[in-house]
Amino acid sequence: MTGWVVIAGLGPGNEDMVTPEVRAALEAATDVVGYIPYVARVAERPGLTLHPSDNRVELDRSRHALDMAAEGRRVVVVSSGDPGVFAMASAVFEALEAGPEAWRALDIRVLPGITAMLAAAAAAGAPLGHDFCAINLSDNLKPWALIEKRLRLAAEADFAMAFYNPRSASRPEGFVRTLAVLRETCADARPVLFARNVTRPDQVLRIVPLTEARPEMADMRTMVIVGNSATRVIDTPRGPILYTPRSA
Ligand code: SAH
Repeated sequence: MTGWVVIAGLGPGNEDMVTPEVRAALEAATDVVGYIPYVARVAERPGLTLHPSDNRVELDRSRHALDMAAEGRRVVVVSSGDPGVFAMASAVFEALEAGPEAWRALDIRVLPGITAMLAAAAAAGAPLGHDFCAINLSDNLKPWALIEKRLRLAAEADFAMAFYNPRSASRPEGFVRTLAVLRETCADARPVLFARNVTRPDQVLRIVPLTEARPEMADMRTMVIVGNSATRVIDTPRGPILYTPRSA
């Protein structure tokens, strides 16, 4: 049996947003590896072994996947959203680069998924309709000073910004600081989207001016999107539509 590793994105939560390509890989797999809540989204079936693991063990998990593929197993490594966005694809390649030479001959593919930023933007309108950037606000893997530098320069360059991992119980200060930096750099009341559990039954969208954004509006299930200086809200009877003009 020829083994392989597929690093697949499961999308933001709604099962209709899992691509047919990812479904086919899961159907062909002998093993699924990933963070506990993501592996829980994969249906059990005979012949399939699920290997859920805790967060923060990305490299161990990657080595395990590569090892199993080298033994001839067909392994899917799952991430939520897209596997290349603050997720497992980079971890697998990091393990590959540092690992045994034989791993380099393995069939390794990345299958994209709908990332939370794009699902959140679509749910609210088109806030990322012009130039934008994505920033991971977690300082687990990089120093806070680097996050703050990127944040400040992105705001000065007038990018719309999408923030992943905005605020967790173990690092509540970062997002307080983020809002302070934005108020300093932007000095206006541009709209901010807090999109929680996007595409799930309990989805909540909230749009507030930057001047009224509060740290407790975000948690680890929230995507935060800050508009650029031209981003605006159209009020409709069906609710607000947030968008950035294509000319700005
Ligand atoms: N690879 C994932 C991102 C992993 S980082 C992707 O491409 O979407 C995890 C962060 O993504 C969360 O803290 C949150 O900010 C965001 N996120 C993931 N799913 C989400 C959802 N359904 N609704 C809102 N935010 C989500």
